[in-house]
Amino acid sequence: MDTKVMQKLSYGLFVLTAKEGDKDNGCITNTAIQVTSEPNRISIAVNKGNYTHDMVLNTGVFNISILSEDARFDTFKHFGFQSGRDVDKAVGITYKRSSNGVIYLDSPEVNAFISGKVIQTVDLGTHTLFIADVTDGEVLNNTASATYAYYFANIKPKPEAASQESKKGWICTICGYIYEGDPLPDDFICPVCKHPASDFKKL
Ligand code: FE
Repeated sequence: MDTKVMQKLSYGLFVLTAKEGDKDNGCITNTAIQVTSEPNRISIAVNKGNYTHDMVLNTGVFNISILSEDARFDTFKHFGFQSGRDVDKAVGITYKRSSNGVIYLDSPEVNAFISGKVIQTVDLGTHTLFIADVTDGEVLNNTASATYAYYFANIKPKPEAASQESKKGWICTICGYIYEGDPLPDDFICPVCKHPASDFKKL
């Protein structure tokens, strides 16, 4: 089988936020989809390595901020390339709080938010699938939603050829992290964005 078929699936891009106690946190996800309309339900699959994963698991509520084509790479770095265990991700962003108490991004980079209340979880090994009732939401502007393909074509900076040539090893095609060694272990997980070895490309 050609594993590249998986790259032909289309995805959106979202900031998943949660709140536990006084702690706000968020991460980037591409797995939010509507699963039923009556009742209105969505699902998200979240990597267990994400701090936000545990917060959603413990509290059962979350928001999805839908990133638009105006989203900046800095926003992906802010929510995707660092952990809420190390930094306060609510600092340095513009947000509001929805009726469930969770923050959502209130910026031109986001065109809508959706609040979810978890009704079922499925353990998928590396990820947990959360199925949730939609409890709130608002359209913030009408800029087109960013797709995963749009992100790669227009938002993510192109790695500089020179810096790649100077290093040997494997580069994470998601965040640009370079593994300096060869071969790349099959079970390698990117320490920055938590994507698997299949998302690495040989330099
Ligand atoms: Fe990575």
